[in-house]
Amino acid sequence: EARAEMKEALRRVRAEFGRHWPLYIGGEWVDTRERIVSLNPSAPSEAVGTTAKAGVAEAEEALKAAWRAFATWKDWPQEDRSRVLLKAAAIMKRRRRELEATLVYEIGKNWVEASAEVAEAIDFLEYYARQALKYKYPSVEVVPYPGEDNESFYIPLGAGVVIAPWNFPIAIFTGMMAGPIAVGNTVVAKPAEDTVVIAAKVFEILEEAGLPAGVANFLPGEGSEVGAYLVAHPRTRFINFTGSLEVGLKINEAAARLAPGQTWIKRVFLELGGKDAILVDETADYDLAAEGILVSAYGFQGQKCSAASRLILTEKAYEPVLERVLKRAEKLVVGPAEENPDLGPVASEAQEKKVLSYIEIGQKEGQLVLGGQRLEGEGYFIAPTLFTEVSPQARIAQEEIFGPVLSVIRVKDFAEGLEVANSTVYGLTGGVYSRKREHLELARRAFHVGNLYFNRKITGALVGVQPFGGFNLSGTDTKAGGPDYLLHFLQMKTVAERF
Ligand code: NAD
Repeated sequence: EARAEMKEALRRVRAEFGRHWPLYIGGEWVDTRERIVSLNPSAPSEAVGTTAKAGVAEAEEALKAAWRAFATWKDWPQEDRSRVLLKAAAIMKRRRRELEATLVYEIGKNWVEASAEVAEAIDFLEYYARQALKYKYPSVEVVPYPGEDNESFYIPLGAGVVIAPWNFPIAIFTGMMAGPIAVGNTVVAKPAEDTVVIAAKVFEILEEAGLPAGVANFLPGEGSEVGAYLVAHPRTRFINFTGSLEVGLKINEAAARLAPGQTWIKRVFLELGGKDAILVDETADYDLAAEGILVSAYGFQGQKCSAASRLILTEKAYEPVLERVLKRAEKLVVGPAEENPDLGPVASEAQEKKVLSYIEIGQKEGQLVLGGQRLEGEGYFIAPTLFTEVSPQARIAQEEIFGPVLSVIRVKDFAEGLEVANSTVYGLTGGVYSRKREHLELARRAFHVGNLYFNRKITGALVGVQPFGGFNLSGTDTKAGGPDYLLHFLQMKTVAERF
């Protein structure tokens, strides 16, 4: 039944190819002359849709609208704010298949990945709507003090900016807005240039849910132009960013500077890249490990911040694990996302170029034993690729490739494996396959990542169950979908009155 629904949804979304969406500022859909065209990476001659393209003038308008809306939204009863988000979640459920089909065409996810992502977006809305009730006045207890009335309570920050990546264009985009909005802030949201159509649909949903004008503003545009403008703006109170390390570092710096020599304070949240490792020892269930590695390294073509891109094998585990991984990887089907293959295309021409250039580097740094080439045809298809005998310091073992490329590193034992695992600038996710209790205990303490998993097939995180965020240069560790996430977007006010 789900299959039939999905086919129908794909047909409908395809029939709408080429539709156009304006910006959404202060509760109005406003068009601009310039356009952003969103292409189907399985067949890039097809335009999935277009949106207006914001410039600096629209960014200014959007930020003003967000501050205007803040004046009232901040004082809404929490139950009412939460109700709007729950309504949005309900509408998303109703439109679920259409949204999944949009992801299939706009970003090349297969049906399974698309469906998991839409479910995650819905979960974010519902979870933050519920969590927000936790911070309602007067949720903070203070110690009584003689002769004084003391109270402390949470208030929202103001208007902020949300800047999103293309790889989870509905879940992360929705989640990064829903958190701050839930507790009374307002946002200007810039989706990634490659995924403006799904982002526009999120705004249709927020509008239908009754989100008041200006609480969330839709501002597709170029990162280096409107993104940078909003980041540097003195009226931006907070920045909620998910994306690459390179851009994250730029934002971190720009947010602290108003003009040359003039520094400033904003709350800056950065969830960045990873160079995630899976470590397998000689006691592991090799079949389970091989399955987990496959899902993690090649799921959505390796374009997840949580994707394993390093496979670290102890001496004795090396041959048996590698053999199992290769046997399975050879069978993976690569093709147009609408056909629900194991691997669809990589997301864009830029992605294809980047991944192929790393494959070239890999050929000098390791042994290419699988894939290594783009496939014939119009779409951006890259064969699942595996390099063995990679040194821990090689570029393909240190830099985020963000494609279906796995580097295998051989170590003598588990302890050395952990050291290697910890030897990048990142610290996002990590996996361990072992049946040895001491090894798992050691990893629990010493594997320095924000999200660690043992003997598990998936690397992703479930909202409310596995709060998600990374250490080191993987970001500021906001732990999206976690019990304390909303605190990032609140400030505590303390009032003391002598009587
Ligand atoms: P990216 O950094 O290239 O772009 C992200 C966003 O930043 C886009 O909207 C872009 O337009 C904008 N941008 C670009 N330059 C800017 C500037 N100077 N100022 C302000 N905004 C600017 O990242 P991407 O390619 O879209 O996404 C992939 C990256 O995201 C990977 O590195 C991945 O690991 C990371 N990611 C991290 C997480 C996490 O939770 N840690 C989740 C998903 C993706």
